[in-house]
Amino acid sequence: MESSDLYPVSRLAAAQEATAAAGLGALLLTPGPDLRYVTGYEALPLERLTCLALPAEGEAFLVVPRLELPAAEHSPASRLGIEFVPWDETEDPYAIVAARLGGAAGAGGRVGAVGLADRMWAMQSLRFRDALPGADQVLAGTVLRGLRMRKSPAEAAALREAGAAIDAVHAQVPGFLRAGRTEREVGRDIAEAIIAAGHSTVDFVIVGSGPNGASPHHELSDRVIQAGEPVVVDIGGQMPSGYCSDSTRVYCVGEPPAGFAKYYDVLQRAQEAACEAVRPGVSCEAVDAAAREVIAAEGYGEYFIHRTGHGIGLETHEEPYIVAGNAEPLAPGFAFSVEPGIYLPGAHGARIEDILICTEEGGERVNHRPRELVIV
Ligand code: ZN
Ligand code: ZN
Ligand code: ZN
Repeated sequence: MESSDLYPVSRLAAAQEATAAAGLGALLLTPGPDLRYVTGYEALPLERLTCLALPAEGEAFLVVPRLELPAAEHSPASRLGIEFVPWDETEDPYAIVAARLGGAAGAGGRVGAVGLADRMWAMQSLRFRDALPGADQVLAGTVLRGLRMRKSPAEAAALREAGAAIDAVHAQVPGFLRAGRTEREVGRDIAEAIIAAGHSTVDFVIVGSGPNGASPHHELSDRVIQAGEPVVVDIGGQMPSGYCSDSTRVYCVGEPPAGFAKYYDVLQRAQEAACEAVRPGVSCEAVDAAAREVIAAEGYGEYFIHRTGHGIGLETHEEPYIVAGNAEPLAPGFAFSVEPGIYLPGAHGARIEDILICTEEGGERVNHRPRELVIV
C-alpha cells in the first residue's frame, strides 16, 4: 500500500481546518500517533524536541533536531511541502516554536489555546507552558478525534491486513499450547509468530491459563499449564503501516472444566449480539448494552467487569470507547473491538474479541478465526 493513500497529503489541511473550527491557535504535535496520523512521519520519541506546529492560519512547520533532519527529510513528511526548521544543540527549540507562532499570530503575538499531542511527554508540555505563557493547553485529540475515528478506505484496508496477520497467529496457537509448558514459553512462540506474520512490533501477548484467565490483562507468568484448563489468548501488534491488530480466542487443553461450556456459550452469543448491533447511528453504549444484556440475563452480569470494546487504528486503544455513558453514534469508518468477557475469580475466564469496521451495511469483522472454544 502506498503511504500516499494511507497518509494523504490532504490531512494537513483537514487538521488545520479542524484546528480553526475548534477555536485553537495551533496544534503542537510531538512524535506519536497524532503526528504520524497528520504527516505519516514515524519520528523517534526523544528528549530532543521534534514538533509539528500547525497554526490555525498560516504555514505549518516542523521543528526538528539537526541530527534528525535527514530522517525527517526521508519520511513521508517531506511530501507535505512544509518548512523544516532544524535546531542546534545549544538552541532552545521551545523558544523557536513560540517565536514563530507568535509572529504568525500578528501584533501582540498571542497564540490563544494550543492543542498538544495526546501523548506528548509532560517534560515537553511544561516547557511549552513556559514558552507560551499566555496559551491555554488542551489535548490535540479534541481536534483530531473526529478525523481519526473515521477510517478512510486505505486505513480500513490496513486494519484488514492487520486482522489477517493476527488471525494467522491464532491459527498456530493450538500447536504451541500443551499441558506442561509455561505461559511464558507459549508466549515466546506467539511473539515470534506475531513478527513472522508481518507485524513490525509485538504490542502484547496475554496467555491466561486456568485462574489467570480470570484476570483480563494478565500477561505472562511461569505458571505451568495443566490438562483440562481453559487458556485466554489475547494478542496484538503493529504492522509496518502503523495500524494495529488485537484479537482474543479461548483454547482448552483437553476437556473443559464443569460449568465452563455453559458460560462460554453465553459469551459467544453476547459477542455475536454486540457485533450484530453495529450499524451507523447506533450509539457506542448501545453496542456495549447488546453484549451486557445477554450476559446479565444468564446471571453472569457481575463477572463481565470491563467495557465491551475500544477503538483501534494507529493505537491499540483509541476512541471511540464502547462503554456505557458514551452516546457517540457510530459512523461508517469507525473501527473498534467487540470483546465481552466472563471472569470467575480463582477459577477461570473467557473473552472473545474481534475488530470491526462500521460500514453502511453494518459491522464488518476483520478477524475470522472460529469463535467456538478450541480444544487442543
Ligand atoms: Zn484490553
Ligand atoms: Zn485484546
Ligand atoms: Zn482489545
